[in-house]
Amino acid sequence: MKIESATVIVTSPGRNFVTLKITTSDGVTGLGDATLNGRELAVATYLSEHVVPTLIGRDPQNIEDTWQYLYRGAYWRRGPVTMAAIAAVDMALWDIKAKLAGVPLYQLLGGASRIGCLAYGHASGADLPAIYDSIDEHLELGYRAIRVQTGIPGLGSVYGVASSGGAGTAGTVRYDYEPAQPLGVPSEEQWDTRAYLRHLPTVFEAVRSKYGPELPLLHDGHHRMTPIQAAKLGKSLEEFDLFWLEDCTPAENQDALKLVRQHTTTPLAIGEIFNTVWDYQYLITNQLIDYVRSAVTHTGGITAMKKLMDFAAIYQIKSGFHGPTDISPVGQAAALHLGLAIHNFGIQEYMKHSAAALDVFHTSYTFENGLLHPGETPGLGVSLDEDAAAAYPYVQAYLPVNRLLDGTMHDW
Ligand SMILES: [Mg+2]
Repeated sequence: MKIESATVIVTSPGRNFVTLKITTSDGVTGLGDATLNGRELAVATYLSEHVVPTLIGRDPQNIEDTWQYLYRGAYWRRGPVTMAAIAAVDMALWDIKAKLAGVPLYQLLGGASRIGCLAYGHASGADLPAIYDSIDEHLELGYRAIRVQTGIPGLGSVYGVASSGGAGTAGTVRYDYEPAQPLGVPSEEQWDTRAYLRHLPTVFEAVRSKYGPELPLLHDGHHRMTPIQAAKLGKSLEEFDLFWLEDCTPAENQDALKLVRQHTTTPLAIGEIFNTVWDYQYLITNQLIDYVRSAVTHTGGITAMKKLMDFAAIYQIKSGFHGPTDISPVGQAAALHLGLAIHNFGIQEYMKHSAAALDVFHTSYTFENGLLHPGETPGLGVSLDEDAAAAYPYVQAYLPVNRLLDGTMHDW
């Protein structure tokens, strides 16, 4: 059996997705997600111009060898574009292998370690009543863990708050937060870390007292604090028992988390902008994080993520795979098969894709009683309707940028 063709499909049902479809000489097809939010065409071009020509004629069953061929063979290693491209090939080959075996992919990864993957949803609001409404809606949908993001008094649009202007698609509903916006240039948001540090603990105090001690609550700091600010925040949130504080500092300065750790027992999650196990080596061996936030899509696929999670397991570090709607249903399915199989699963980020996206991607995964399950369809369990995809051509869209009140560029 050989790889006969590989095609890159870019579609924008409400937001952009990049998908690789590999077809074997036996007519078996596999799908891989290569979506890199705001930089989609860079990966699409990397795949179509540089990767696809090298795939034709290869044995689709040799997944490890193909991974090493693409990683080592490029010479220029790592980075989000390269690793998303490798991830797409890797996912598609695992999809094919599981289809050939006639089993859902998680069976090839060791079988199920649990009945389902605990999911967390994104609740947000400009103020407390709006946040309560959003949490209530998520609880009614069945979520058993909630990320809480809040507006900050005195600031306009801020990260993670749907009602304060994150609308990426026309007529989007309030909780369908899609930060990439179809504008010619990125939109600009405002930030004031001191105002945030004052306000956020008051929100968690109110939410914790309203919803009681059991509900797992999460928060994303989105890389905005200095080490000492993050230490202060972790300490001030400790009494509200967060499941995790995510991306409290920019991920590049890894020693920052040593300072944070010295001051707080609030669990830390990081890694959604990381691409390889090497990005985690220092953090994992020094036990500076509690959860790995990588997306299977951005970290070289299932082959690489399985190794990363096995490495993390030695240090009792668990998964918290990145899974907002900029991960396509293909990438989400890959995360669910892996999450179901590994022993050190922690939690899975989950936002339901739009009706338009689910018109293009047909999925077999389910969300019930707060748990996600990848389903029992052989392979990844996702198919792509290419006619439906063609009806949604690529739309240029950018993630916002962020400035302090005096105009200084800051981390978004
Ligand atoms: Mg995040």
